[in-house]
Amino acid sequence: MSERISHAAKTELQADCGNCFGLCCVALPFSRSSDFPVNKAAGTPCGNLQDDFRCGIHERLRDKGYNGCTVFDCFGAGQKVSQVTFKGVSWREEPDTARTMYEVFPVVRQLQELLKYTAQALDLAAARPVHKELRRAYSRIDALTRDTPETLLGVDVDALRGEVNPLLLRASELTRAAVPGRKKDHRGANLMGKRLRGAKLRGASLRGALLIAADLSDADLREADLIGADMRDTNLCGADLTGALFLTQPQLNAARGDARTKVSSPLEHPAHWAA
Ligand code: SF4
Repeated sequence: MSERISHAAKTELQADCGNCFGLCCVALPFSRSSDFPVNKAAGTPCGNLQDDFRCGIHERLRDKGYNGCTVFDCFGAGQKVSQVTFKGVSWREEPDTARTMYEVFPVVRQLQELLKYTAQALDLAAARPVHKELRRAYSRIDALTRDTPETLLGVDVDALRGEVNPLLLRASELTRAAVPGRKKDHRGANLMGKRLRGAKLRGASLRGALLIAADLSDADLREADLIGADMRDTNLCGADLTGALFLTQPQLNAARGDARTKVSSPLEHPAHWAA
């Protein structure tokens, strides 16, 4: 990975709430459910958002029933839209720009997510044959994220995803091919609630798999491809996810785990795993 992209992956592709106008807490809607205790419409500030754009209950989100907030990641879209697209002028200072800001935010979030996956693929040594194309894709998407609100609102994110996904898939295949043994293919599989305790899934493809409430405790998930897997309430206690491909912090935040669960840096155990 180039130094520039490596640096961006550690900074620009991580949420920096201190430089964001609380966009996820205003722009996005949520409904009363197991994830939120109240309804909130898109474009309406959450009642817990403070004047300084910080969350007033940040340390108690789960206790207060706001589980949904703990599994959300903007991948750095919040600070980019606040500081780059709208040049540091908030929706409170310029209410006329608020609606556009709220519309641009989810677009940039999807682009930042694509950048994050691309940066992760560039970190895979075995994926070197596709690194040149990945770098090209990264530069193009990165430039788009810095464009005007009008351009951003016209971006065809699905088409971009269609261009990048084959590269990510190839990067995954090249990397998993180096893993010894037969690799299982559970791509897109419905494994909701399945008992997979201790499963040997090293180097497996679990791309887009439904793993909701699946029991993957003590499973070997080293170098498994987990891109887009739905891991809500997945039991990862004692599982080994070292080197898992395209695994994100929101996926871990949505799952259950314990002190024995192994993940690779910069991923970390969510605070609620200790409870
Ligand atoms: S509870 Fe906090 S983090 Fe969640 S939307 Fe409201 S202000 Fe944002």
